[in-house]
Amino acid sequence: MAWMKYCPKCKSDKFTEEFHRDASTRSGIRSWCKQCCAIVQKERRILNPDMFRERLKESRKRHAGEHTSEHAAYQRQWRADVKQVVLTHYGKGRCACVICGESRLACLSLDHMAGNGKQESKLLGHGGGANFYSYLRRIDYPGGYQTLCMNCQWVKRFTNTEYGNWGNKNEDY
Ligand SMILES: [Zn+2]
Ligand SMILES: [Zn+2]
Repeated sequence: MAWMKYCPKCKSDKFTEEFHRDASTRSGIRSWCKQCCAIVQKERRILNPDMFRERLKESRKRHAGEHTSEHAAYQRQWRADVKQVVLTHYGKGRCACVICGESRLACLSLDHMAGNGKQESKLLGHGGGANFYSYLRRIDYPGGYQTLCMNCQWVKRFTNTEYGNWGNKNEDY
């Protein structure tokens, strides 16, 4: 059953199909026609840039994860670069273990030749981390370090007197 309704906005009589349903009104439909509602909504968007900005923020939030992973990839690359540069310096010009020649970056780390690497690590946070490597580069490569692979590190720890009697020390771990 189609009947006409007057839209006070555009001041014309229109069929009820041209009005949005709205259960909150007595007639069950909006007082303004669909066309007028659309125009008003568009005007509101223009007159209310805050709302528009909020939506922009929302969409940025949704894409934030992508930026984070991009940033993480950059950080990873930076860490690898710093590590490689510093280990090459302490590897006597080669990014490799000075004892056995192991050159896979993942198994290489710096060894403090004097044997107080543990105390130094405590002072600087992460002994083998990128922050430590970049710190050494910043202070122009102090002496007393060498590039070692994990195997040679363990062999050195096992045989070195710095840990005293390995058997007794082991019980503390
Ligand atoms: Zn209208
Ligand atoms: Zn080695």
